[in-house]
Amino acid sequence: MDEKATNKAEKIANKARKSISKFCFEECMAYCCRKGYLVLTKYEVNKVTQGRKKELEKLELLTKLKDGNYSLNMGTPNFPCPSLQGYKCLVHKSLKRSKTCGDFPIFIQDDYVKLSPRCLAVKQDLFYSYIKQWLALGFKIKKDDPLADI
Ligand code: SF4
Ligand code: SF4
Repeated sequence: MDEKATNKAEKIANKARKSISKFCFEECMAYCCRKGYLVLTKYEVNKVTQGRKKELEKLELLTKLKDGNYSLNMGTPNFPCPSLQGYKCLVHKSLKRSKTCGDFPIFIQDDYVKLSPRCLAVKQDLFYSYIKQWLALGFKIKKDDPLADI
């Protein structure tokens, strides 16, 4: 897909993500910040863990990967993402928040718009009107989660 179409698709994705913000907070209650794994770079890890890197490593909820990044396990009920407070993200506006957090649940890759099947908004088809716009631009839609193999 050319750059122009990709930029248009990203703009649509931003609108789509914004459209569910109330739903995320009030109905889904930030499921994606309470379940799964999040890869963090060494520049993001302290910010996102709220300075609890060592503690989380001891609890084996944070693991250093071979490539130098970190994998944060958010799948334990009492240990969601440390930056989640009252179902809101404390680092929402920080440049040190992971790009995955900013993109989730919509990932634009090559000719595809990938929608995470883990997301409740995707499951409830809340992106229907945006899907029509991506299709009109020539993108293919896939229910796929780039994080599924991590
Ligand atoms: S799983 Fe989807 S609907 Fe739920 S908080 Fe995350 S992005 Fe929002
Ligand atoms: S950094 Fe924010 S958006 Fe990302 S998982 Fe943690 S609470 Fe959720």
